Amino acid sequence: MKQIPNELAPCGVFCGACPSFNKTCLGCASESKEQKRTSKWGCKIRDCCYNIEEKDFCIDCSKFPCKKYRKKLLDTHPEDPKFRYRHEIPETFIKMKQIGIVNYLEYQKRRWSCPSCGGIVNFYHYKCSKCGKKVTV
Ligand SMILES: [Zn+2]
Repeated sequence: MKQIPNELAPCGVFCGACPSFNKTCLGCASESKEQKRTSKWGCKIRDCCYNIEEKDFCIDCSKFPCKKYRKKLLDTHPEDPKFRYRHEIPETFIKMKQIGIVNYLEYQKRRWSCPSCGGIVNFYHYKCSKCGKKVTV
């Protein structure tokens, strides 16, 4: 497996915008056992991508978006704006193939930063983690 930035989960979720990132979790791409959050070790999508299909990202898989992926990610909480960061993945993920991993990481970091103070915007509430401003990503 290549060295993947910790912000980039195999499924396409941008871990860099997760409220747990660099707090209880180092991101889904990190293999470090020195993190409190343990849910990712049991994630079926992560396991499939890394250990079964042996890809860096689900989008590299010919089955994307497979049934497992849709059930666990895309089809969850339909119409709930808090989960837009999941529903939008097919649209944003494809950019990684077009612009490359490095540019994609920059693109995501820019998207998820607060226009007022530059703080990180977290998903679920789409609020700046620094100044609390509501941000449309
Ligand atoms: Zn802010």
